[in-house]
Amino acid sequence: MTLGPLPARCEVCIVGGGIVGASVAFFLSQAGIRDVLLLERGRYGDGSTGRAVGGVRHQFSLAANVRLSLRSIAFYRDAQRILGVDVELHQIGYLFLLTNPTDVAEFARAAGLQQSLGVPTVVLEPTQARRLVPDVDLEGVLAATYCPWDGYADPGSALDGLLRGAREEGVRTYSDTPVTAINRDAGGWDLVTPGAVTRAERVVICAGAYSRDVGALAGLDVPVLPYRRQVYVTEPFDRLPRDMPFTIDFGTRFYIRPEPPGFLLGMDDPNEPSGWDTSTTSEFLERLVDAAVARVPVLAEARVHRGWGGLYEVTPDHKPLIGATPLPGLWLCCGFSGHGFMHAPAAGMAMAELLTTGRTRDDLTDFDPGRFARGEVREERYVI
Ligand SMILES: Cc1cc2nc3c(=O)[nH]c(=O)nc-3n(C[C@H](O)[C@H](O)[C@H](O)COP(=O)(O)OP(=O)(O)OC[C@H]3O[C@@H](n4cnc5c(N)ncnc54)[C@H](O)[C@@H]3O)c2cc1C
Repeated sequence: MTLGPLPARCEVCIVGGGIVGASVAFFLSQAGIRDVLLLERGRYGDGSTGRAVGGVRHQFSLAANVRLSLRSIAFYRDAQRILGVDVELHQIGYLFLLTNPTDVAEFARAAGLQQSLGVPTVVLEPTQARRLVPDVDLEGVLAATYCPWDGYADPGSALDGLLRGAREEGVRTYSDTPVTAINRDAGGWDLVTPGAVTRAERVVICAGAYSRDVGALAGLDVPVLPYRRQVYVTEPFDRLPRDMPFTIDFGTRFYIRPEPPGFLLGMDDPNEPSGWDTSTTSEFLERLVDAAVARVPVLAEARVHRGWGGLYEVTPDHKPLIGATPLPGLWLCCGFSGHGFMHAPAAGMAMAELLTTGRTRDDLTDFDPGRFARGEVREERYVI
């Protein structure tokens, strides 16, 4: 939705109209900051949000990420009441299949951490995993972890709901409005767009994989790099259970989840360098099919219907950047490293807390953008 000319001033300007920018806008408005502009260079959801597969999980190696998941997934569960939108949350669970002894030890430790935070993750014997996915080949599988609260939801509905909720509270959102320069003086920030300049007291960069470029406009080095991910959907396929968990073969990073009437398949490509290419390739699809059929042999009978590529927005430690920068009034909420859909609500809540009170309920030190300069880096290990 476009509202006519940009206003000359605003209290907060959000750059980026994906799920994270929409969430920051919504929660700022809920916290009483309504003089907010959200600027999106294309259409809302044009970036990674429109390419995401909607996975939501509590299974992470760091407590800070588990807490983001707890808040966010509770929000999505309640989205109909809060936003008037059904985000189609399917809590079918996530099943991690582990083939490496180091991963088994790490996942067992992390399951204990998750349980201590109230998350019902369990460590399973391989044969127990087979009860959840009857057609799985357990070759090499040493153990598994399962959390029934995990699953997937629809990023498009969540984005629409958050944007609508923000607009109802007075937030003004502009699509087709690229920010082309960001200049600062003592009075605030000037955001230059093709038709107008708007002055903001505070700016929040929510530009996903493009956050480094947007940060550079303001003179800030934002450590976020783009990495391609490819996913494919099968034609209708009834040889696997419709309610099987979102299953991840952690050794190959192959994953599968239901996408009725078929299934959705994806995989990490650890050898691919950072880049902006989002095309799909037959070489990758071949490797994906090999990994898929090795772990779930019945997939040899499935036919691929379509596929697409998109960008992960990756930081050096696979954790987001949420918080202040050394430049007064410039804030970051980006770099979710492939977890931005599942963590957007909690990130929006945290930004609203920071911009209204300067503090957050949860300890967000792990996500402080200054951590790299201080050398305090703890990596998130559950990365797919
Ligand atoms: C194939 C794939 C599968 C994924 N699966 C999952 C999943 O299962 N679960 C999960 O949680 N996450 C998943 N992700 C990651 C998720 O999509 C991202 O973490 C999330 O969408 C990031 O949201 P964002 O709002 O930060 O970024 P984006 O959605 O990329 O939004 C940023 C926006 O900023 C805009 N922008 C850029 N530059 C400018 C500018 N100069 N001026 C104005 N606007 C600008 C862009 O146009 C874009 O719309 C997946 C990603 C991919 C590619």
